[in-house]
Amino acid sequence: MNSEKTDGVVLRIVEFSESSCIVTWFTRDFGKVTTMAKGARRRKNPYEGAIDVLSFSKIVFLHKRSDSLDLLTEAKLERRFRTAAKDLHRLYCGYHLLELLNCLTDDFDPHPALYDQLERTLVRLESEESLAPLMTCFELQLLKELGHSPEWKFCVNCGVEIERHSRVAFAPVEGGVVCRRCRVGRRQVISIARQVADELEFLSRANLSHGVELGRLGGLGETRGLMGQILQHLIGRPLRVLPLLGFLGRPEPAK
Ligand SMILES: [Zn+2]
Repeated sequence: MNSEKTDGVVLRIVEFSESSCIVTWFTRDFGKVTTMAKGARRRKNPYEGAIDVLSFSKIVFLHKRSDSLDLLTEAKLERRFRTAAKDLHRLYCGYHLLELLNCLTDDFDPHPALYDQLERTLVRLESEESLAPLMTCFELQLLKELGHSPEWKFCVNCGVEIERHSRVAFAPVEGGVVCRRCRVGRRQVISIARQVADELEFLSRANLSHGVELGRLGGLGETRGLMGQILQHLIGRPLRVLPLLGFLGRPEPAK
């Protein structure tokens, strides 16, 4: 049994008994880790608010080599996700990021760059005016980090460079654009505006660390619809929070 120390954000909490719960973390050094948190449901518990979804903490856990769950021994709250209590949109966005990480990452498969990206995204999510570019940017970074980056320039079937027409065809099954010739007879192809493909290509390269201005997205409805299809296809079952994010695809009121 090894005692491990790392930073983590709470992805999921499941009640286990009257006093304990099972907490799934996305950690910086170990990727997804599921721990038993004994006593966490007692009013006076040793974790002092660290066990709360979207909260960042420093944690220590005992990694068991057998089938039994790892045991959380310490959790110290570092940063809580702060947003107005009534701002459900930002909260849903946060939950969506957690659901994606929970579905797409594996236990003990570390992705420190993704962890840092999540931290930066959640900080910006508290105050950013335009939520759609921020969320889309994280989704694309997640896909890239996990080796599922969509192809925007070259046909995923034959490799030819896509001509610059006003609309291009995207095949969610293959995860990229297809040329006019390969498109013929192909099922499940979505027609998207060229601008949408260009913006997504740009966002997939954006680095959030330098307060980069993500700007606003054109073709919002198309962009969000496409991202939803890509993610659903990859995960292979309906996402729970995604249907609540319809507001991301609607133009934001002028400020
Ligand atoms: Zn082709």
